[in-house]
Order: sequence, then C-alpha cells, then structure tokens
Amino acid sequence: MQKKHDVLRDPVCGKKMNPNKAYAKVKVGKDTFYLCCPVCQSEFENDPEKFINKK
Ligand SMILES: [Zn+2]
Repeated sequence: MQKKHDVLRDPVCGKKMNPNKAYAKVKVGKDTFYLCCPVCQSEFENDPEKFINKK
C-alpha cells in the first residue's frame, strides 16, 4: 500500500508543489525538504536552519 503524499511547500520560496515534481530532496535530521529548483536547493543547503526555523 502506498501512502498518499500531501502537497509540500518549498521552504525557500514558499511555492507549493507535488513531491514527485520536486527538483531536489534534502534531508536534514529526520525531515526531508523538497526544493523546486537548483537556486532554492543551493540556498537551502547553504543555511538550512534559516529556512526551517522561519515562521
Ligand atoms: Zn523554490
């Protein structure tokens, strides 16, 4: 049985997307974050906590 995925949000730009269409997945601790493009990926990897802790 396959678990249904919710629509996820890119932590960098805030864009909503289907996880299957994400450009990149980045694991931080137990969580996986999905990035929409190489620009967001490099921004996120540069300072993940900045985006994770953003309220
Ligand atoms: Zn993005």
